[in-house]
Amino acid sequence: VNIPFYDLGAAQRTALADIQVALQRVASSGWYILGPELENFEREFANYCGSAHCVGVSNGLDALHLILRAYGIGNGDEVIVPSNTYIATWLAVTQAGATPVPVEPDEATHCIDPARIEAAVTSRTKAIIAVHLYGHTVDMAPIRNVVERCNLRLIEDAAQAHGARYRSQPAGTLGDAAAFSFFPTKNLGALGDAGGITTNDSALAEELRLLRNYGSRRKYYNDKQGYNARLDEIQAAVLSAKLPHLDRWNEERRTFADIYLDRLAGIDGLILPEIAPDVEHVWHQFVVRSAHRDDLQRALADAGIGTMIHYPVPPHRSRAYSGADWPALPLADKLALEILSLPIGNDQTPETVRVVADVIEDYFGRRGR
Ligand SMILES: *Cc1c(COP(=O)(O)O)cnc(C)c1O
Repeated sequence: VNIPFYDLGAAQRTALADIQVALQRVASSGWYILGPELENFEREFANYCGSAHCVGVSNGLDALHLILRAYGIGNGDEVIVPSNTYIATWLAVTQAGATPVPVEPDEATHCIDPARIEAAVTSRTKAIIAVHLYGHTVDMAPIRNVVERCNLRLIEDAAQAHGARYRSQPAGTLGDAAAFSFFPTKNLGALGDAGGITTNDSALAEELRLLRNYGSRRKYYNDKQGYNARLDEIQAAVLSAKLPHLDRWNEERRTFADIYLDRLAGIDGLILPEIAPDVEHVWHQFVVRSAHRDDLQRALADAGIGTMIHYPVPPHRSRAYSGADWPALPLADKLALEILSLPIGNDQTPETVRVVADVIEDYFGRRGR
């Protein structure tokens, strides 16, 4: 058995011909930055999400950071973030000069627990970043109530949730603005770094277009101290080539998740991911929990199966944030010790997923239901 956690080349094989056409078109076009490919992709991705605007940017971290900058969030401000997220969510806040205020997750879905948010709001709170972790959308309705009561911005970190839905509404339209990453391993990935922001707010979109391009509307005339945070023509063209495949790829991930959920149900000592009833999950990761996580990971590795941990060190425990006095975050700590991501990428097949399930059943001493 040799089942790598993720083989990117294999995962996008069904789009390879389309990608090659796009690459050649851009290579011979003579136009590589801020051109027709970017405009095309922005229109297509905005349509896909059902949002009025998409602003292509350099990566997911910059997408989050630019949203905060465009809202004028910075020094002295607080932004509520999940305690268990990829560190980029926190880095965007500190890069803007603001302070991340961590809130613990709902253990069933791993997403930020709406019931704990209001207690974290202070007079300095300006925004909440809701991370649709692993492809499961955050329970937004109760958060919208807090946001309205306290007059906050609601920002989605949709880096893992392309195509996911909450109460039939797509990720990217569930807050005031949403940051997407198109890092190669995401459900929709470029062939390098790439990101995007969706919003229905025209003024915000205009400000983001300024900030991503040196604060300039007209070449060499600069209205703002902006950034170089643009999405290249070549990555935009690749993303346009891959976007028509996204729904099928997400559907495939759902098939794999269903196999895992069916085969691994009821194993003592293994906790499966839960899906809230109003959520359409896109399974960026399939994350199980076990008190014997390290041993289980070793058993899978011995059987030739790759797994990963998303993420082994919660942001507040990382050396990068060791200087600050974080509150106790026991759930983030516990989850980091128990979580394990099983292979679920588009390089898998129902057969490989069943083999992974077999090995897990063997490990827990149960086989053949
Ligand atoms: C990938 C990711 C990001 C950052 O995206 P990059 O394109 O790598 O900068 C931010 N938040 C989450 C939740 C992510 O998974």
